Amino acid sequence: MKSLLRRNKNGGQEINWICLKENCPENCCGYFRDRLPDYLSIKGIKHDEILVLIKEISGISKTHIVKKKGNHYLKLKKNRSCPFYAHGKCNQFNIRPSVCRAYPFYIDLFTGLNIDITCPGVGGGWTRIEAIKPALKSLIRCYKKHIKSIEDELQSKSFQKDF
Ligand code: SF4
Ligand code: SF4
Repeated sequence: MKSLLRRNKNGGQEINWICLKENCPENCCGYFRDRLPDYLSIKGIKHDEILVLIKEISGISKTHIVKKKGNHYLKLKKNRSCPFYAHGKCNQFNIRPSVCRAYPFYIDLFTGLNIDITCPGVGGGWTRIEAIKPALKSLIRCYKKHIKSIEDELQSKSFQKDF
């Protein structure tokens, strides 16, 4: 793959990714698959669960929320697709959770900021870094939530109790 980053003629940085939106042949929503099969959640959370942060709950109908292992998630359909996924797109775009806003960006322990290269928008066009800041802020919000939860569990010694 060619370089993921370049400078534009104004000196700004761009990333070789563009969201194809309704033209995407493999929408990130809908039928999820385990994207990181070599990693196992200590709490038994599946990689296709859609995390909903506390401040996002009020915008979403209670019937679409489920609480598991101390977190809130969108209640998936029987086929494990998102309840808001219809006709190839999100029908609740303005209230979609941070985890959706963050995709396809991902933070890795070893390499920092990553992009999921199964997203068909990778290599499909150039986007200003400025324009992906909201996605990166959403990403950070999700990680902060996980870090806080691990810190709380360490404080309460629940890890030691459970294992
Ligand atoms: S998979 Fe990638 S290109 Fe397709 S809708 Fe999702 S973010 Fe956009
Ligand atoms: S809330 Fe919208 S963006 Fe998020 S998984 Fe569901 S359909 Fe996709």
